[in-house]
This record gives sequence, C-alpha cells and structure tokens, in this order.
Amino acid sequence: MLSSNIEYYKPMTIKEALELFYFFRNQNKKPMYYAGGTEILTLGRLNIIDPDIIIDIKEIKECNLFEFNQDYLLSGAALTLTYIEEKNLFPLLTNTSMEIADHTARNKITLGGNVCGQIFYREAVLPFLLCDSQVIVAGINGIQTSPIEQIFHQTFQFEEGQFLIQFLTEKQYCSLPFISIKKRQQWDTGYPLLTIASIKVENQLRFAFSGLCAYPFRSKQMESELNNSSLTIEERIQNALQFIPGEVLNDVEGSNEYRLFVLRNTLEEIILEMEVR
Ligand SMILES: Cc1cc2nc3c(=O)[nH]c(=O)nc-3n(C[C@H](O)[C@H](O)[C@H](O)COP(=O)(O)OP(=O)(O)OC[C@H]3O[C@@H](n4cnc5c(N)ncnc54)[C@H](O)[C@@H]3O)c2cc1C
Repeated sequence: MLSSNIEYYKPMTIKEALELFYFFRNQNKKPMYYAGGTEILTLGRLNIIDPDIIIDIKEIKECNLFEFNQDYLLSGAALTLTYIEEKNLFPLLTNTSMEIADHTARNKITLGGNVCGQIFYREAVLPFLLCDSQVIVAGINGIQTSPIEQIFHQTFQFEEGQFLIQFLTEKQYCSLPFISIKKRQQWDTGYPLLTIASIKVENQLRFAFSGLCAYPFRSKQMESELNNSSLTIEERIQNALQFIPGEVLNDVEGSNEYRLFVLRNTLEEIILEMEVR
C-alpha cells in the first residue's frame, strides 16, 4: 500500500517541479512525478513502488499544450487520452490512444504516464516513433530536445529527475495515410496481444509494434524487408520476422507462436491496405 504519510505537491511551473524533485532527492526521499496516477496507485497497492513524495505535473502549462505551432504539433505530456481523442489533431495518435484501456480510465491516463510508465505496452509512443518526433525533457541541466530515436530504447532513457514535457511532431506527418490495428485475445478492452501502427511516407511503409516483445519498438530493418516490392508479401513478411529485435512474448495474453501467427496475418492485412492508398 502507498504510505499514508505520502506528501503531495502540485507545482505550477517546470522549474518548481524540478526544484521539488531534487530538493527531496537530496534528503534521501523518494520523489515521483505523478500524472493520471492510474499506474502509481495500481503498483503502489501491489507494493511494487513506494514513493514518499508525489509531484503532480498536471498544472504545468507546457505539459498541457496540444496545438500546431508553425511547422510542428506540440503534444503535452499531461494531456489525457480522452482529450487527445476529442481534439483529434493527430488522427494516428487518436486511433492508437483510443484502444488503450476503457473510456473511464482514459479520462485519467495521460500521454506522459502511458509512454513513461512501467507497464510495458506504452502504446501511445508508436505514432511518435513512426513520425521521428522530437522529445522535450526537463531536468537538472535545463530543457533538452532530442530525436525520439536517440532517447527511446524500449523505454525513455531519462536521467534521474528528468521528466517529459512534450512531443514535437512535424505537421506534415499528422495527415499521412496511416493504420493502427490492435488485436486482443478476447474482450474489447485490455492489453494487446499485438498492436501495429503504420504510416506511409514517400511511398515507403513504416511500422511500429507493441505487445510483440516486452517493449514497444520500431525496426528499420523490418521496414526495409517489408518494403521490398521485388518479393511476394509472404516472402517479405518471412524475411522481416528475422529482424524482430527481441524475444517474442509468451504470456497470459497469448503464446509466442500465436503472436507470430497474428503478426503475419496483420502485417499482410496492413500491406495490402496501405499499398493501394
Ligand atoms: C484498466 C487499464 C487498462 C490498461 N490498458 C492498457 C493498454 O491496453 N495499453 C497500454 O499501453 N497501457 C494500458 N494501461 C496502462 C496505462 O496506460 C498506464 O498505467 C497509464 O498510462 C499510466 O498513465 P498515468 O497518466 O495514470 O500515469 P501515472 O500513474 O501518473 O504515472 C505512471 C509512471 O509514469 C511516470 N510519469 C508520468 N508522467 C511522466 C512524465 N511526464 N515524465 C516522466 N515520467 C512520467 C510516473 O512517475 C510513473 O512512474 C492500462 C491501465 C489501466 C488502469
């Protein structure tokens, strides 16, 4: 259980949030950034985490922006998934997010909480991986902007005390042809057996995956094989499978063999549909 002595802070600025984090960390306390709280409460109840200081980032202005700014879409870390759906500025992100949990949970779950959380599906990161988005992060060395490819390897590689402020996504990506397919073992809500998101950029398909391995990923080697139009679709898929970057999950959501079966079928479905768009 989370301790009843937990202290709660709600800073209004990035600077204040960072000061709180490093102040308490220097006192050997365990501060934790808090957004929707759904994962913190779940893991706290299971005694997997036990923060003693909660720093709620939901009032920070920069974390709540969702708007086009010149050539970029800014997507703040504290946006709830339902707000992202309602605004629908980035249809691929809308489609991917609206398959996460159920509507009531999505009223609480934030973009930052989903992509930075310990629950490893992190499905909302797929659109940003596909669009080569920039990631804005605040920490002891100020505010840094990095390409997602540099800073996301299975999870965000943040230093202690850093937190996600926003994603910057080039406007042109927000209107490209896309598809996002989530396959579950059963029911209409729940964790994915497999989620694949794809966009078409200059006639080439890009693919990002969640639920296949114990982390979300985009693989350029798989993309290269899947775009090899000199081969049949079956051959392309067979070649791409050799570049899955880790062990295929084998758990309660489905066996590794079943996941590979679903992967083959879903890739074929996506290629057939996207190649004619
Ligand atoms: C019923 C249910 C079903 C679910 N189904 C799915 C699913 O199908 N697919 C899927 O991908 N996920 C699923 N999840 C997982 C869920 O997406 C995460 O638990 C949730 O996204 C956490 O978001 P939150 O805003 O509540 O984060 P919080 O609980 O507030 O935080 C989660 C973690 O992220 C950190 N954090 C939060 N914001 C930031 C930030 N801006 N910068 C750095 N660190 C930050 C926190 O410190 C904490 O470690 C489900 C969850 C529930 C409750």
